[in-house]
Order: sequence, then C-alpha cells, then structure tokens
Amino acid sequence: MSENRNKVIDPRCVVVALDFSDAGAVMELVSGLDPDCCRLKVGKELYTHCGPALVERLAADGFEVFLDLKFHDIPNTVAGACAAAADLGVWMVNVHALGGRRMMEAARAAIAQKSHQPLLMAVTILTSMDESDLREIGLSGSAEENVLRLATLAEQSGLDGVVCSPLEVAELSRRSRDGFRFITPGIRPAGSQANDQKRITTPTDALSSGADYLVIGRPITAADDPLAALQAINAEIRASFTPAA
Ligand code: C5P
Repeated sequence: MSENRNKVIDPRCVVVALDFSDAGAVMELVSGLDPDCCRLKVGKELYTHCGPALVERLAADGFEVFLDLKFHDIPNTVAGACAAAADLGVWMVNVHALGGRRMMEAARAAIAQKSHQPLLMAVTILTSMDESDLREIGLSGSAEENVLRLATLAEQSGLDGVVCSPLEVAELSRRSRDGFRFITPGIRPAGSQANDQKRITTPTDALSSGADYLVIGRPITAADDPLAALQAINAEIRASFTPAA
C-alpha cells in the first residue's frame, strides 16, 4: 500500500469501453458520465455503425477518446489512418505490432507531423489466441514470449506503449523504458461480475502492477447508475494511489 501511495495515477485512468451498436445508447450513457472522471473507448463495432461523427460528438462533449481500431495494413495505409485519427482529435489510437517495424514507424512518423498527436499504442498478441492458434499462423514460442518480443519491437519502433493483459503488465513494465505506457482490459472492481472475462484483476492490482490506464466496460456501462459505478471505481483507486495534479 505505501509503495502504491508513491505512484502518481492519471485521475482519468479509467477508459470506459463503449461496446454499443447505436449512437442513441452511447449518448444516453455518456450524458450521465463526467469527462473529468474518465475517458472513452470507441471500438470497431461502434465506429463501423456510427463513424467519425460520433467521435467528434464525444470530443465536443469534453471526452478524450481512445480509438480502438487496431490498424494493420501496409505502412502507407496505416500512416494515413493514424493521420486521420490525429485529425479527428482522438487521445489514443492503436495498431497491431504484427504489422511490423516499418508499419509502426510509418504510423509514428505520420502522427509526429500533426499538431494534435494522439498516444500511439500497439496490440501484441490478442488474448483470444492460444498457443495452437499461434502455431497455425506460424508463430513459435509461447504466447508470453510473443507478447514480450512484440512489445519490445513496438518500443523500438517509437510507439508510446502497448495494450496488454493485466497479468502481463508487471513483466512488460519491468522490461521497458520509463514512460512506456500500458493500457489493460480485463478489469473488475472487487465484488463485481466477471461476465465473459476469464482472467480478471482489480483496478488497484492492475495499477500497482504497472498499468497506466484501465479499460472497463460492463461494470460501468451495465450498472443501474453508471456514474456511481465509475465514481466508486475512482474512489477505490484514490484510496490507494496519489492522483496527478
Ligand atoms: O465489459 P468489459 O469490461 O469486459 O469490456 C472490456 C473491453 O475491453 C471490451 O471493449 C473488449 O473488447 C476489450 N478487450 C478485452 N479483452 C482483451 C482485449 C480487449 O476485454 N483481451
């Protein structure tokens, strides 16, 4: 606990996953949330339904947005997509590290030219993949070995951090430079339902293991009172850590 107290935490480290398919449900939820208390994650389903207009709307309401589209394509195309995300004003965007060094460097270079520069994160190995899936696509070694190798490649390619499981974050943060960031899903506040998440960690444990940001969906979005659920999580975090000014 005393070690946690020395760790400075972003007061908006909770990133609420907007796993919805229509803008109406999103706006109803978001109208009850406070942009000073969280950020929002827009993924492929919602973005494909609602497009950039929804992201602009959320930004106009004061929210910082993680655009979780996991770009993976030739370097020139990913660079263009990341440049477009920067122009949209998002706070964070991500790419697949499996796209390789040249793709990640092109993404980094494209964002570096922009006046607004989102954090650029890498996905390593999807947690839905087990070792037999990795063999099938020609990757040898354990999932953990692949995660560590790809996280190192992302760091060498100039990315700002990686998306990772809270169970991987301690080892990854031990191996990476100061300031390399980690955002982790699979978070459940003490006492809440696991839903379909198999390996879960509390917000406090994930942050003390080295996470900088926590992706949390249903414990907030499916709560009777989402703002109260968010505030309870933030209170749990504040009880253990020092929020940044
Ligand atoms: O509702 P819940 O908190 O489980 O939502 C977690 C969010 O994080 C969802 O948007 C889900 O797609 C995403 N995610 C995950 N597990 C991963 C990677 C991403 O749950 N390994």
